[in-house]
Amino acid sequence: MVVLTPSAEPSTAEEPAPEGSENKKKKKRKREEQDEPAPEPSTSESKKEKKDKKKRRKDDAAAAAPSTSAESSSAPSKAPAKAVASPADAAAFLEKHAVTITTPDGVPAVVPVTDFAQLDVPAALSSSFKGFKEPTPIQACTWPPALEGRDVVGIAETGSGKTLAFGIPALNRLIQLGKGAARTGTSTVTTLVVAPTRELAIQTHETLLALGKPFQIASVAVFGGVPKEPQVRMLKNANKAKDGMTTRIIVGTPGRILDLMQEGACDLSEVNYLVLDEADRMLDKGFENDIRNIIAATKPAAERQTMMFSATWPEAVRRLASSFQRDPVRVTVGSDDLTANSRVEQSVEVFDDARSKDQRLLAVLRSLAHKKTTTSGATDSRVLIFALYKKEASRVEQMLSRQGYAVGAIHGDLSQNARMETLENFKSGKTGLMVATDVAARGLDIPNVGAVVNYTFPLTIEDYIHRIGRTGRGGKSGKSITFFTGDGHERALAGEFARVLREGNFEYEALKKFPMTIKKKEHGAYGAFFRDDIPVPKGPTKIVF
Ligand code: ADP
Ligand code: MG
Repeated sequence: MVVLTPSAEPSTAEEPAPEGSENKKKKKRKREEQDEPAPEPSTSESKKEKKDKKKRRKDDAAAAAPSTSAESSSAPSKAPAKAVASPADAAAFLEKHAVTITTPDGVPAVVPVTDFAQLDVPAALSSSFKGFKEPTPIQACTWPPALEGRDVVGIAETGSGKTLAFGIPALNRLIQLGKGAARTGTSTVTTLVVAPTRELAIQTHETLLALGKPFQIASVAVFGGVPKEPQVRMLKNANKAKDGMTTRIIVGTPGRILDLMQEGACDLSEVNYLVLDEADRMLDKGFENDIRNIIAATKPAAERQTMMFSATWPEAVRRLASSFQRDPVRVTVGSDDLTANSRVEQSVEVFDDARSKDQRLLAVLRSLAHKKTTTSGATDSRVLIFALYKKEASRVEQMLSRQGYAVGAIHGDLSQNARMETLENFKSGKTGLMVATDVAARGLDIPNVGAVVNYTFPLTIEDYIHRIGRTGRGGKSGKSITFFTGDGHERALAGEFARVLREGNFEYEALKKFPMTIKKKEHGAYGAFFRDDIPVPKGPTKIVF
């Protein structure tokens, strides 16, 4: 892993800790507030952390050990497709969408579901596709193995429908298992989705809630920043909701999930369908230990279907990911390397003097024909501006507000209620501008964001891909404008950034004055010296970290 320490630079010197980073004060925060740690947290560990780690290693060994006993899986039987694509159509589809599918030994090739009619799921479930023309490539290729109960890694660009890619098989499985669920266990919750930010957890919860409604299947969202009691109550009453609904799904952020587990309010022992959304983020250092503890509380890998989805899949997390899965089918849409959403037109502006960024931002907003006060309703000129630091986000928001813009901000210094209100106003069109830190970089599906401006470059190139992916969603096009100074952490990312621009056929000349070297990322536990093409050992071998 590249440890990036943003050096003091004029505009940010007073706030050296990027959004979410752990400093001493923050370490004292209660667990519930720690569900959004640093993008690149510090590598230093306290004694207590080391002790905890040792203990967790023991606890996690069982969950981490892959097993081949597929027979004992509680996966529902295979749902036969109504009519499958012909081999020629299937091959043409895979080629057209540049899909790479890796199946484990002995598993037949995946036949993509190229038409919703080929999908054999209950009619009330397919009603969620109303208005969609056809499955997206990631849906087409992950649904067949997922519906068979296989573990899946699904990598596809931002905004390409990954939520339904894991959501439909989740619901199908719940429906097949029957409402009574967990007949032997104590909990009715058998599906768990873990997401890196509160807003994403809420969004995914809402999607799954809508999918489950016709089947009386409910979902509960658990996330920090708000009182625990209502969440505890909902979990306690999982089985006895008045309207006949049964809570079968939890969607949450790691910190709050662990907190509720420790309180005995969240029983994951029956969880047999586990999703890590934004999986690379969930497995990087900031979340890794929490994720281990959460996974260890679910059913063992052999009895659990484990799904990992993201738009970015750095090598640094691949091996760790496979230690939680059982012979996964891996589907990659587009290049296996970092790929940006192809419908986002990317540009970069290199600054010699970071102080001119404000003036330039105002000019960019004018050129995007962004209206200062938006009327209600959707507007394609809606713009999302990313800053790196909480204080920086605040400052840019205030600057824009002084200029007469209807603008909101979303970052970790704001209360959860304020964050949700900002997001709501931006979604509804009440404010046409939102300034955010990377808490809004991943997963948020906000309709009609016309452009993303990166006021300050993020700490990793993956975050860049996710940030610009807030526009150009669901088949629409979008624009991104990135301010680049080459100061501090930015310099080391110039090469990777240039590569992303070059691959999309966008202009990157201005970046050439910086070193174009690309540093290989390393995972803390494995370093850079592992090969992704060597299969992870199967069978009872225990992998101890
Ligand atoms: P991702 O997780 O890949 O970033 P999302 O799951 O958030 O993307 O979906 C992005 C948008 O695309 C959502 O608004 C969703 O409703 C829409 N969508 C999902 N599936 C389809 C489809 N098959 N055709 C068109 N739009 C879709
Ligand atoms: Mg998503």
